[in-house]
Amino acid sequence: MAMEPRLETLIGLLRHRESPANLALVRRAYQFAERAHKGQTRITGEPYLNHPLATAVRLAEMKLGISVVLAGLLHDVLEDTTLPPEEVRQELHKEFGDDVLGLVERVTKLGKVQYRGIDRYVENLRRMFLAMAQDVRAIFIKFADRVHNLETLDVVPETKRRRIALESLDIYAPIANRLGMGEIRGLLEDHSFKHAYPKEYAWVTGLLKERLPKKTQYLERIRKLTRQDLTMAGIKILEIHGRTKHLYSLYKKLLTHDKDIDKIHDLAALRIVVPTVGDCYAAMGIIHQRWHPLKGRIKDYIAQPKPNGYQSLHTTVFCEDGEIVEIQIRTPEMHEEAEYGIAAHWQYDEGGKRASLAKEKLAWVKELAKIQREIQDSRQFLRRLEDMKIDVFHNHIFVFTPNGDVIDLPEDATPVDFAYAIHTEVGNHCSGARINEVMSALGTPLKSGDMVEIILDKNRKGPSPDWLKFVKTGNARDKIKVHSKQKLADWLKQVLPPVRKKG
Ligand code: MN
Repeated sequence: MAMEPRLETLIGLLRHRESPANLALVRRAYQFAERAHKGQTRITGEPYLNHPLATAVRLAEMKLGISVVLAGLLHDVLEDTTLPPEEVRQELHKEFGDDVLGLVERVTKLGKVQYRGIDRYVENLRRMFLAMAQDVRAIFIKFADRVHNLETLDVVPETKRRRIALESLDIYAPIANRLGMGEIRGLLEDHSFKHAYPKEYAWVTGLLKERLPKKTQYLERIRKLTRQDLTMAGIKILEIHGRTKHLYSLYKKLLTHDKDIDKIHDLAALRIVVPTVGDCYAAMGIIHQRWHPLKGRIKDYIAQPKPNGYQSLHTTVFCEDGEIVEIQIRTPEMHEEAEYGIAAHWQYDEGGKRASLAKEKLAWVKELAKIQREIQDSRQFLRRLEDMKIDVFHNHIFVFTPNGDVIDLPEDATPVDFAYAIHTEVGNHCSGARINEVMSALGTPLKSGDMVEIILDKNRKGPSPDWLKFVKTGNARDKIKVHSKQKLADWLKQVLPPVRKKG
């Protein structure tokens, strides 16, 4: 009984755009899922049905078409069910047709990867790309499914929680990003961040709590002035509001800006939506008449879109009292594209027309799917991802030994980190490195997919203290320090007279 209002949430989202017949289908799909998941509970203790329902609500919020919403409600009925799968499959087909059954099957295939470590990553990626090439809508459902799983991750046991969070950060979020799905990417990242890196998460939320209220107040003043200026100039404003940077993207930015929040200018930004491209440029001109732009910070992503299709004008200006504010200007179409990316092309209203446009944009996915069928070697596969500008592993990289063993290292780790990860003695005696068969300096930052061979010098006395300047792992740092201390102790022993025992 308590469930009824939540089904109504879903119906409420769809009512204004779907036919009564389609709304009836949604109710039927809900009952179907209710029957399939009868008696099942989630680890949170709530009825299992809450999960497919939340997934469908997310998809409806993304304004996706009816088949996708239905498949969202039904996405777990083939697998997480007490009924015989073959029967369920036949019933699904009879009740909801080819399209919905096809989607449910694809989403089911994406689940439950059995491998571990690097093979798990690669297998996950392969399946995602294959599904994308066949029907990208399956990925939208998988994203919505994952976002809800992340939202309820608190109760999951620690190790599994971390694995799910990292997998979401490393695989799902980059793919969402590459598909231009900014909103979903932000959700995936922020929910995962908390569980994957709890200490860092606490640090960033703390910083934000301290800074944001003042910044938001200030932005409100700037918003009023800008609204006045643009209105005076005859530019119609469809939307003007402040937006706060997503937590995880703030965290990543802090890492490249000396961890200094004062150096982050887009902590909160002003976002303006105007009707046409011409209005975008005009609006920027007017804003620059009141406030000076920061040198080098005017970015024209309209003329030069980002690889994922993102378009907007960005400018960073000195406002009153020398405060620095980022302003983003775009049309409604650009806004939809920025929030939903490729998914915007599968929204209910324009179906076919926009979807065929999107096929062009997905050409790279097809290519990758073809490549991944040909490339069986994990190392080459990762390399290819990098070529396609898919930044898969945010904070760590996988590097290969000449035997094909995989070493997991933090981003920008060096051959010395690699050597110590293999064995302390390999670290202590390394004298050079070949990266992908090219002689390279020991301080060279490594990339995912690199094959590294360490050249050993048996006569080497030990590590060089200079290595401390570039190593990235605590393990390498500790070993180098221990060795240096040991050397100092040895030297002291030689130069100082032995301590005589009092007898
Ligand atoms: Mn699910």
